[in-house]
Amino acid sequence: MLVDWVVVGLDNGGTTNNGTILDSGGRFLLDRLAEVPSDVREGPDKAIESLLVSVEQVLKLTGVPIAAVKAVGLDTPGPASGDGVISSKGATNFGHAGWRGFDIRGALAGRLGLPVIYNNDGNSAALYAHHVRFGAESGQRSSVAAIVGTGLGGGIIQAGQVVKGAAGMAGELGHVPIPLDGLLAIGQPMPACNCGVSGDAESVASLTGIQNNLLPYWLTRYQGHELSGLPIGKAAKLVRKYAEDGDEMALAIFRQQAMAIGRLFTIAANFLDPDAYFLGGGVVEAASHFRDRYFAEVRANTVLRDEQVRAAEISLVPDLDMAGARGSAYAARDWLIDQGQQVTRGASLSSGRRDDHDHGEAGRLIALVVIPVRAAGREAGTLTGADRMAFARHRQRQGA
Ligand SMILES: [Zn+2]
Repeated sequence: MLVDWVVVGLDNGGTTNNGTILDSGGRFLLDRLAEVPSDVREGPDKAIESLLVSVEQVLKLTGVPIAAVKAVGLDTPGPASGDGVISSKGATNFGHAGWRGFDIRGALAGRLGLPVIYNNDGNSAALYAHHVRFGAESGQRSSVAAIVGTGLGGGIIQAGQVVKGAAGMAGELGHVPIPLDGLLAIGQPMPACNCGVSGDAESVASLTGIQNNLLPYWLTRYQGHELSGLPIGKAAKLVRKYAEDGDEMALAIFRQQAMAIGRLFTIAANFLDPDAYFLGGGVVEAASHFRDRYFAEVRANTVLRDEQVRAAEISLVPDLDMAGARGSAYAARDWLIDQGQQVTRGASLSSGRRDDHDHGEAGRLIALVVIPVRAAGREAGTLTGADRMAFARHRQRQGA
């Protein structure tokens, strides 16, 4: 198979970098995780070296020459600017003092001599879900993704593009305050979030929310519960397992979480009216009987108008462990294609020869490189019908 160019996608995490590679035709050339230690705790110099090792690793695994790589997509955990400058106040994953205000995107681009396209990890995963669901129609569609983990991440995709906002802070779904009437039990304390806001989506719908807010309260309602004997951090991580086993208290906790996500999606419906609402996180990989119950609860609490019910859907984010790297790769490919179109548009207005525009521009096709490739993993637009669910109609829900 002939491949004219590829992009590399890198997902930088607290312990590992995960890399992948995407060809110009939209095929992933790796069907598994390609991981190396991220070394972020040792500071920027070491971590940038590790990102280079990650690029080398995916090239080696696929036999693709570096000359075929036209751009690199990179994501990291936040908070960082929309252009990849780590917060000057530091960040959970970037504790080393050297990270404060560090331009991780610019540093990697400088070392590689290639364009590097940056997104935060939630936005990358959102972009991946969007591409998997909409494939060739990605550019005409919009979506919102909520990904439940330690925090509540995700992002907003409009017309195939990550919405970053003026300061790079758009799509911070976790810190959107949600209505809590009818969600909290009588006497349940107002949940607090690390961001300083009380009663936002993350204060309920995240592992941190379980640990700090939900579990401490529910253990007072279920005195003598097995989890009460454990340190709270350890107990919080076990709640999902208990829910899968049908434990009443654990199910009550996840019911509140699912309600919170439904209410967040309701806000998104009124703000953005997207084509799709994506839900991701550990719960997607949970036992199917529990996952389906959780998913149904999210759906039941997402209040849409009839027109929206007909137009939109709720889906699970697939392959979450690869979503960051793959979303980063899509971001780089989208950027390259867009650059190419801009060059073409410019060329059509120019009286000069087409060749005038062909030197050193990121979007230009390089000489064809023969690379044996194998399409791997989920192709764009191949989310199966079973991954999707229709919304319950608004009136039915109100009657329930
Ligand atoms: Zn918050």
